[in-house]
Amino acid sequence: GIVAKIRRIQPLSPALANQIAAGEVIERPASVVKELIENALDAGASRIEIYIEQGGSTLIEIIDNGNGIHSDDLPLAVLRHATSKISSAEDLSAIATLGFRGEALASIAAVSRLTLSSSQSDEGIGHEVTINGSAYNPTENSQPITAVAHQRGTRIQVRDLFFNVPARRKFLKSVSTEFGHIEEVVRRVALSHFDVAFSLVHNGQIRLDLPIADSGELRAQRVRRILGARFTETSHWLDCSSIYMQLSGWLGHPSEARGQADLQYLFINGRMVKDKTVSHALRMAYEGILHGHQHPAYLLFLEIEPDQVDVNVHPTKHEVRFLAQREVHEFVRHHARQTLAQFKTAPAELADA
Ligand code: ADP
Ligand code: MG
Repeated sequence: GIVAKIRRIQPLSPALANQIAAGEVIERPASVVKELIENALDAGASRIEIYIEQGGSTLIEIIDNGNGIHSDDLPLAVLRHATSKISSAEDLSAIATLGFRGEALASIAAVSRLTLSSSQSDEGIGHEVTINGSAYNPTENSQPITAVAHQRGTRIQVRDLFFNVPARRKFLKSVSTEFGHIEEVVRRVALSHFDVAFSLVHNGQIRLDLPIADSGELRAQRVRRILGARFTETSHWLDCSSIYMQLSGWLGHPSEARGQADLQYLFINGRMVKDKTVSHALRMAYEGILHGHQHPAYLLFLEIEPDQVDVNVHPTKHEVRFLAQREVHEFVRHHARQTLAQFKTAPAELADA
């Protein structure tokens, strides 16, 4: 018969613990790109260059011109639960950065060959550290830090993602599918950060090249380049505010609605999210002007006081929780409905009280 082997409990090695935790944050190359771009934005970069090889399976490289990392802090950057963004429980209630968990670099380093270099000065000198799929442990395996020529900012190269997690590597899709996911991440970030220039290069080919959009015309140009001319020309602009929130963006014409929710972009405090409260409010606003199960198209930005929203819901941070959920719902529904009343195709009784 089957005899269960008696096993004793032992702590996971830091390397294995990191690999397991990495699975939650890093699902595919696009997740790495998202985390690295968010770090660059948190560092105040105004220019982010993204170089991808083979859909990200062989190389993901991100160069930013942000604040950089102090050379002494380089090893800490890849240490799990080490962050420069929060330092107390109070900070958790008003998060102003995209990251705060101190998990991304540790996770990526655990499942790839990662080289991180950075400089905080304009003197052309920086420092570099390399981690090859291991967990950094300050007492055991301190990594050599070397001086390198470097512009102000940070450069991260992630090679051979999941090389040491065959079960994961096996599930990577084709180069074009993985690159498609990466492109979508970059699009979404570019739509929410007009004050940052982005470039995206795949296998040596420039796929996106977006200059800083600091005028209305350049903003419209960026939106058009990303969402297409039809959406931009037929949608209605919305801009409204209450005491603690502001909603702005474009509501798509009913004819732009689709069977899939692929043209729905919602940013809450600069963070791309899928939020049930807001999407339900929008569905209600479009009620009666969309056919059947069509999904409205929109690009919306909701700015809300940080203490009114909890972003600490899920590690991948696609969800948020509002303190005043009902108010947010009613605010969005009401103003969206008013804007939609402008569409000539809309029934006359559309505008509500
Ligand atoms: P988090 O973003 O949650 O703090 P990460 O693992 O993504 O955690 O990054 C760890 C730390 O490394 C950050 O808190 C930050 O201090 C530093 N860091 C990472 N990427 C950059 C970057 N591009 N520019 C400057 N500092 C960075
Ligand atoms: Mg981060």
